[in-house]
Amino acid sequence: MSEKEKKSKAEQLKEKLFYKKEHSTLTMSDKEQKAADRYCEGYKQFLDKGKTEREAAAAAVEMAKAAGFVPFDKKKTYKAGDRVYRLNREKSVILAVIGKGDIDRGVNLTAAHIDSPRLDLKQNPLYESENIGYFKTHYYGGIKKYQWPSVPLSLHGVIVKPDGSKVTVNIGEDENDPVFMVTDILPHLAEEQYKRPAAKLIQGEELNILVGSRPFKDDKESEGVKLAVMEILNKKYGIVEKDFLSAELECVPAFKAKDVGFDRSLVGSYGQDDRVCAYTALTAILDLKEAPERTAVCVLTDKEEIGSDGNTGLASSYLKYFLYDLAQCMGGDARTMLSASYCLSADVNAAFDPSFPDCFERRNCSKINYGVVVGKYYGARGKSGTSDANAEYIGHIHSTLDKNKVVWQTGELGKVDFGGGGTVAMFIANLNIDTVDVGVPVLSMHAPYEITAKNDVYMAYKAFVTFHKMSD
Ligand code: MN
Ligand code: MN
Repeated sequence: MSEKEKKSKAEQLKEKLFYKKEHSTLTMSDKEQKAADRYCEGYKQFLDKGKTEREAAAAAVEMAKAAGFVPFDKKKTYKAGDRVYRLNREKSVILAVIGKGDIDRGVNLTAAHIDSPRLDLKQNPLYESENIGYFKTHYYGGIKKYQWPSVPLSLHGVIVKPDGSKVTVNIGEDENDPVFMVTDILPHLAEEQYKRPAAKLIQGEELNILVGSRPFKDDKESEGVKLAVMEILNKKYGIVEKDFLSAELECVPAFKAKDVGFDRSLVGSYGQDDRVCAYTALTAILDLKEAPERTAVCVLTDKEEIGSDGNTGLASSYLKYFLYDLAQCMGGDARTMLSASYCLSADVNAAFDPSFPDCFERRNCSKINYGVVVGKYYGARGKSGTSDANAEYIGHIHSTLDKNKVVWQTGELGKVDFGGGGTVAMFIANLNIDTVDVGVPVLSMHAPYEITAKNDVYMAYKAFVTFHKMSD
């Protein structure tokens, strides 16, 4: 009896007609599994190196230069296979590999963001209270504020001095560096705190970062601790308090990226939203061995977590201007090119969390280890704030992924009306580019430590590699 005959008619028909998500571990070969694990070693290094948008942009440019990318000059002429990049204000970067075909046939664009939720220092951050030194903060992006106290923090960013010179700050990452922390009240005295609604368990103005406690010696002045801290900063960076007014300083968790689980199948790290898609999209374009048919473009953008506004975010024109310049220098027509372009908006999706099953609709949510997520739409309150991708384009993407054995799944962002969120997809779709959300499912998204599955990370990389080979 053959295998086929053993199966009942219903079984056979089910196999033919029903859609079934497939677990990546069960569909990947041992060789591919090893490749995924190896790939994530580089990913973890990237996470530790680029904890802010500036650091991630710098790391991306460094990797791009090593892979033969040079600054884009719109007055130059380029040929197939040429590799260029443009850095926008050190916080977002666009890379391109010139394709063989006519530029008017469109480009294949991947877009990921390199900013992550964190605690930014306020303009006047340093103060002293009861002989303890603190920084005032204003949180950036969507955080559960109660998750941020009692976590070791590092300080990253730049301070611009009156003479225009710039100091780069990075304290708390090296093994020998000090770290910083927001304090919380002990449970013994939390009776009143426990009565607060969860969203206010820790409030914005309570996210004050501890920075010192030893006052300036032999001094009758007040604010001795603040003075002592300022003296350290003056010696180390040559700054005075006023220089904080022209600084961008960000506090992020000081933890390193690590394997998670006995089987080491997962990656734990701060900032995987969305550096997981940034790294996979970036390495996919860097790894293009030969000139693709259509010009490959990858943008790593800033400001997604606060709505993409600002001149380093995708609601601004910086990507459009680059694409216009590219079309012009390749002798094409920008509008024709844009209208024929394809985009994968690369951002993470909320993975089903078995400890919180009620937040998800099981048939339409993503799961870790089930591959890269293709999301037709996210948004909130009836698909607001999203680009609801066209069926024709989605169909094209699905069949391309299938043909190239990329394990993929669909995913909405949780149950309808349970919240929701947007990505950069709509800003790119608004340029009249076919756009769909593609990304990695994440557990504990926006927490100080987020979880991804190595197989999904690898499948995202494979999806982006495949996408750049996609023709019209
Ligand atoms: Mn994101
Ligand atoms: Mn996010």
